[in-house]
Amino acid sequence: MPELPEVETVRRGLETWCLNRTITKVQTLHHRATNPRSISPLSELVGATITKVSRRGKFLWLELGRPYCLVAHLGMSGQFRVQEPSIADEKHLRVRMTLDNTQELRYIDQRTFGWLAINKYEGDIPTLVSEIAPDIFEESFDRTLVKAKFRSRKSEIKRALLDQSLMSGVGNIYADESLWRAKIHPATSCDQVSPQKLESLFRAVESVMSKALVEGGTSFDSLYINVNGESGYFAHSLEAYGRTGEPCSRCGTPIERIVIAARSSHFCPHCQRM
Ligand SMILES: [Zn+2]
Repeated sequence: MPELPEVETVRRGLETWCLNRTITKVQTLHHRATNPRSISPLSELVGATITKVSRRGKFLWLELGRPYCLVAHLGMSGQFRVQEPSIADEKHLRVRMTLDNTQELRYIDQRTFGWLAINKYEGDIPTLVSEIAPDIFEESFDRTLVKAKFRSRKSEIKRALLDQSLMSGVGNIYADESLWRAKIHPATSCDQVSPQKLESLFRAVESVMSKALVEGGTSFDSLYINVNGESGYFAHSLEAYGRTGEPCSRCGTPIERIVIAARSSHFCPHCQRM
């Protein structure tokens, strides 16, 4: 599933290949690619010019000149590609937007949990994204306030990290990796985490996701926008996620797996004690 660093890589790719392009034709090939909350069919995008590509957490939006924008959520398997029209359609092509340079911005989604929607704004943020808190890289991210919100909760810290209304963009993989780095047990109650530990957790979130951004950000040097799935980061840098039974790289204790908020949590029972 694409997480914040992958979505940011997509944003940069779209910015590189689509900025200031006008959409000349739209073809929708699957009804589920359009979010039911879209204020009009995607065909209404004809004539719109992409003036900016923005992101909050895992939501992307193409700014089309106020008051409209095109919001995208990649779901489990959504991808954008910019292709020459001569290139054969991908098997799971859902939406084709032809640009004024004849290239096609294609939305491909095997599992169709992702969606596109024409949307209006609430302030600077699309209404469909307005419930989502700023992510840790945004200027509007208020670190002091978010820490206070964390410390006032009695839920498990892992659950709070995944809560998109507190801080957006931290998915399961980055949550486990950050907790391992900060040496915090994922089931620790938020109000039991010291301010120092919480700060080291926030720093871990920043460094884990920045590292993934650097690695993902170099991978689109052609018209293929690398959008999806496992970025290079996952191949060699995971310390906890998906490593059940393998030795912790700090202490050698086998990594364990428990379930919190219906998601797998991977942690070292020695380094991350309650
Ligand atoms: Zn350990």
